[in-house]
Amino acid sequence: MRSYKAKMVEPITLPSREERESAIEQAGYNVFNLDARDVYIDLLTDSGTGTMSADQWAAMIRGDEAYAGSDSFANLAESVHDVMGFEHVVPTHQGRGAENVLYGVLLEDGDVVPNNSHFDTTRAHIVNQGAEPVDCPSPASRDPDSTASFKGNFDLDAGRALVEEVGADSIPVVVLTITNNSVAGQPVSMENIRATAEFARDIDALFVIDACRFAENAHFIKTHEQGYEDASIAEIAREQFEHADAITMSGKKDALVNIGGFAAMNDEAIFEHAKQRAILYEGFPTYGGLSGRDIEAMAVGLREAVTPPYVGERVEQVAELGDLLSEADVPVYLPTGGHAVYLDASEIFSHIPKEQFPGQALVCALYREGGVRGVELGGFAFPGTDRPDLVRLALPRRTYSREHLEHIAETAAEAMANADEYDGLEIVEEPPMKELRHFSARLKPVSN
Ligand SMILES: *Cc1c(COP(=O)(O)O)cnc(C)c1O
Repeated sequence: MRSYKAKMVEPITLPSREERESAIEQAGYNVFNLDARDVYIDLLTDSGTGTMSADQWAAMIRGDEAYAGSDSFANLAESVHDVMGFEHVVPTHQGRGAENVLYGVLLEDGDVVPNNSHFDTTRAHIVNQGAEPVDCPSPASRDPDSTASFKGNFDLDAGRALVEEVGADSIPVVVLTITNNSVAGQPVSMENIRATAEFARDIDALFVIDACRFAENAHFIKTHEQGYEDASIAEIAREQFEHADAITMSGKKDALVNIGGFAAMNDEAIFEHAKQRAILYEGFPTYGGLSGRDIEAMAVGLREAVTPPYVGERVEQVAELGDLLSEADVPVYLPTGGHAVYLDASEIFSHIPKEQFPGQALVCALYREGGVRGVELGGFAFPGTDRPDLVRLALPRRTYSREHLEHIAETAAEAMANADEYDGLEIVEEPPMKELRHFSARLKPVSN
C-alpha cells in the first residue's frame, strides 16, 4: 500500500510496435537518442525524474529569489543542519557542481583518492584536479550469487594496500559513496562507515561522504544491521554523517527534487575556500546556480526523505520490481539495491558475445518489446573494463504504480523469450572521448 495518491497526472502512451521499431532504428540503437515522448516507462535514471510532494510545490511558490541572503537559503541550511548535522552548506546546480567545488578545494596534482566505488562524475572531477581515483569495492560485490546485506562496503584491506603502495601522504581524502551507485546500488553498513572514517583518520586524510542516496542507505541499515532495528531513519541518517568532514550531495536523488545539489562541511576554512570556488563556477554562495524556489523545494525534500514511511516504501518498491522479475525467471543482480534493479544481460542474451554488447542489445529489446527504457552499464558504457554486462532499471521516486512494474517484468520476460530474434550490435559512429560514448554513439545490428 502506498501512503500517497496522485494529485497531478502526466499522460504516457505506448507507441505501436512498428513505431517502436522505427524509433529505435532512427535512434541508432541508443536509447539516449530516443524522444521521451516515444518512451512508455522511463527507467533511464532515478536522477531528478521523481515526483515532488504537494508541500514541495507549495515551497516553490514561497521561494525567495533574492540574489544574496535569501530566506530559501536559510531554510536549506537549517534542513541540512537538522537532517545531516553539518554547520555549513554551499548550494550548487547539481551533485557534480558540488564535486567540482569541494574537490577543487581538497585535491592537488598527484593525489590519490580511494572510494568504495567512484560514480562517473566523481571520478571525472577527481581526475580533473590531477588526482587519481581508486575503487576499493568489497569483494562480495563481485559475487552475483552472494546475498550479503552490505555489498556496497568499502574494502579496508584494499585501502590499506593502497596506503602501502602510494604512501599516506599522497592520500588527502577518503571517499565513501552511500549507497554504492556503481555497485548495483548496494548499501554500506554503519560499521563500515565507522571503520572507513577511522581508516581516514589513521592516515590523516579527510573523510568525505558522497551522500546522494543517504536516506535509502539508512533504510538498509535499519532493516539489516544489528542494533538499528529500533532507531528511526532520521537518527540513522544523521549518525551516518557523524564522522564525516564533508559531503557532496545531488538533490536529484534523496532530496527529492528535479534539480539541485550542495556540498556541506563543518570546517570553517574549507567552507570559506569552497564559497570562493562556488562563486567562480556556480553563483553567489546563497543560490549556487539555482533559483530560490529550487532551493526551497530541496529544503523540504530533504526532510521528507527521512520522514516515514517515504523511504521504506521507496526501497520496497524497487525490491517488488526485483521480485516480479525473479518470478518471471529473469536473472537479476541480488540483492536488489536501493534505487534500481540490474538485469544480467550476459545470461539473458547468452548467445551474444561480449564484444557485441549483449547489455545494449537487451536495452534495445526492452524498448522494442514494451516501450521500456533502461540503460546499459557494462562493456558499452565502460569500454576497456571487465565490467559484467548489466542493464539498470532505475525507478523514479513516487512515480510509477504496481501495474507499471508488472508491465516491466512482462516486457523483460518477452525479451528473454524472444532472445533469438536479437542480434549483437556494432558501433558505427562514436564521439572522440571513449568514456562518454554511451551517451551519443550510434550502433547497428551486426547482421545488417
Ligand atoms: C548522481 C550522482 C552524482 C552526481 O550528481 P548529479 O546531480 O547527477 O550531478 C554523484 N554521485 C553519485 C553516487 C550519484 O548517484
